[in-house]
Amino acid sequence: MQRIVIKVGSHVLTENSAVAKIRMLALVQLIAELKEDKYEVILVSSGAVAAGFTQLPIDRNSVANRQALAAIGQPLLLKMYQEKFAKFDLLCSQVLLSADVFESDKHVVHAKVAIDTLLENNVVPIINENDTVSIEELVFGDNDRLSAHVAYHFDAELLVILSDIDAFYDKDPHKYKDAKQRAVVTAISDEELNEEHTPNNEFATGGIVTKLQSADFLMKHGRAMFLASGFDLSDARSFLLNGKHAGGTLFTQYQ
Ligand code: ADP
Repeated sequence: MQRIVIKVGSHVLTENSAVAKIRMLALVQLIAELKEDKYEVILVSSGAVAAGFTQLPIDRNSVANRQALAAIGQPLLLKMYQEKFAKFDLLCSQVLLSADVFESDKHVVHAKVAIDTLLENNVVPIINENDTVSIEELVFGDNDRLSAHVAYHFDAELLVILSDIDAFYDKDPHKYKDAKQRAVVTAISDEELNEEHTPNNEFATGGIVTKLQSADFLMKHGRAMFLASGFDLSDARSFLLNGKHAGGTLFTQYQ
């Protein structure tokens, strides 16, 4: 079995300030197909704040409110996932991690034992940052960097980021019409890694920079990352299930 991590961004999972149920179902169906094929799948999912906002529409600009919304939304999000995975006779589970877990070998080992056990029992671990207890300085950007750490520390070969953008471009495609997709990236410059964050949605916090930082971290640790659209899963499906790289960007040091 090949272990992979799939990270889904907040923009993909939300629509009109609520959870985008149809896209969630499409994602769950893809995960079910991947599990039927040759993959062990760990999911890193955003969306808790958006789910909380549907129940209590308070100002999301305050950190305290976002923490509260995450606390309200996380169980709702998981309930939605449980219902959708059940359609495919699959169980899913909730694993909340904070950034400092990865600073302690002991904590990483404990978390990995749990993840391994879930996967051995065919259960899909759904990981999210524990926003309610995370101190602002410690938080990872929109789960991009969290998912890179998850992939590395829990022994996955590949991180698949399903985003609102279908690939990495030579410049921001929302600003420049002539931006060109990059199919394979083998190195990322310091300049690109230190650019300002450019999230494209009211719930998003990462932007392309945190994705590049995640790719850089993984490449330096001998792993790969694939960035593709989370709105249309056909590129991710064809890459993972048919071995065809039609669209999306593969970040790898090895060609
Ligand atoms: P998500 O919520 O799906 O993780 P983000 O909104 O955080 O996604 O980040 C993706 C956005 O980054 C794109 O929609 C785009 O506007 C912006 N972006 C800036 N530069 C680039 C680039 N070179 N290639 C692709 N996207 C870029």
